[in-house]
Amino acid sequence: MLDTGMTRRHLLAAMAAAGLGAALPAPAAGPRGASAAARDGAAAGRRPDSIGVALVGLGYYATHLLAPGLQLTRNCHLAGIVTGSPEKIPQWQQQYGIADRNVYSYDDFDRIADNPDIQAVYIVTPNDLHLPLTRRAAAAGKHVWCEKPMAMNAAEAQEMIDACRAAGVQLAIGYRMQHQPSTARLRAMAKDRPYGRILKVSADAGFHAYDDVDPSSKPWRLLPQHGGGAMYDMGVYSLQGARYITGQEPVAVTARSEIHRPHLFEGVDETTYFTLEFADGLVAECSTSFGKNMNTLRADCERGWYEVSPFQAYKGIGGRTSDGGSFDDGGVPHQQALQMDNDALAILEKRPPLVPGEEGLRDMRVVDAVHASAREGGKRIVL
Ligand code: NDP
Repeated sequence: MLDTGMTRRHLLAAMAAAGLGAALPAPAAGPRGASAAARDGAAAGRRPDSIGVALVGLGYYATHLLAPGLQLTRNCHLAGIVTGSPEKIPQWQQQYGIADRNVYSYDDFDRIADNPDIQAVYIVTPNDLHLPLTRRAAAAGKHVWCEKPMAMNAAEAQEMIDACRAAGVQLAIGYRMQHQPSTARLRAMAKDRPYGRILKVSADAGFHAYDDVDPSSKPWRLLPQHGGGAMYDMGVYSLQGARYITGQEPVAVTARSEIHRPHLFEGVDETTYFTLEFADGLVAECSTSFGKNMNTLRADCERGWYEVSPFQAYKGIGGRTSDGGSFDDGGVPHQQALQMDNDALAILEKRPPLVPGEEGLRDMRVVDAVHASAREGGKRIVL
């Protein structure tokens, strides 16, 4: 939830600065028990035509970031849940006032087609389920928000785009950083070149984890069939960062992977280094890892440098420039609330989302090439 110590007044000021307007429910709607306001989704401050969202997969991200974020949004609200774990249901219903009619399992999920309370489905499951669940949500006539990485490969990503297009529903990818002021500033710097031409870029995103995992019961992030491995999970942040700090699309890729804990990493990468080449000769050295803590995006230019670190944390985005300047989080109090409000507004205003499926597809093409290059001993793959 919100940082303790952050008052509603501070939050409103910060949200106004971030262009979120009055995106907070009124204090009375406050922490969401099974209040009437929560039950009917009509918290004060929320627009009457707010988009009802069903979260699909009630794991870490849905529980700790998205559901709390949906208590802060003005343009959308948490209306339903889809889960394979019946034991999670009472707590979610109690905490968020979710009606029985808006609770689904993966087996009866397709019935959501008949539910007028839900207009958008947010897929927050292991990566291999993004395509099949998108197909089903689109067939049910619901807009689709899908977590990163969009899919297992570019062919799947294209199929998701086609399914949503055929059904006439929106498809938005959960790249929260694309909604951040720091990202907008980096894009502008790529264009305006305040330190002259960019000569070199580095983008590194990873964390150290899984030392305590029992190899006989690995989590899905370590299993190839679920889309496990560092490149899918954190590598897309390095890739996104390299793309938005340069303002360019890569034209070729070389990659290599390393495994230091072979009992855990079988058929998935632990650390991957990849080099992106751009048309103007610029090169981005990128890395990602489940064995190393890294969170830095940097551009070295003709007349200086700038660096954002951390560049993809949930909070505390910060950085420096060679002439004493700084980067901050732009006063955004809750990244996911901002992202979902933006995506809901796109639906309400019938215009494309900021991060459409096509953007996810661009990354999946590069991820495919990274995997292929690493498999083929660092072969240069032209995109
Ligand atoms: P978790 O493992 O914590 O949760 C995934 C949930 O998916 C489970 O709790 C479960 O929910 C459901 N699920 C359905 N089938 C399976 C299965 N076969 N194995 C395991 N879980 C299953 O993962 P995260 O929440 O961390 O990640 C989910 C997605 O969100 C991923 O695509 C990830 O990349 C993305 N993500 C994005 C972040 C961002 O910053 N944008 C941050 C973190 C994750 P249930 O029991 O309710 O069915």
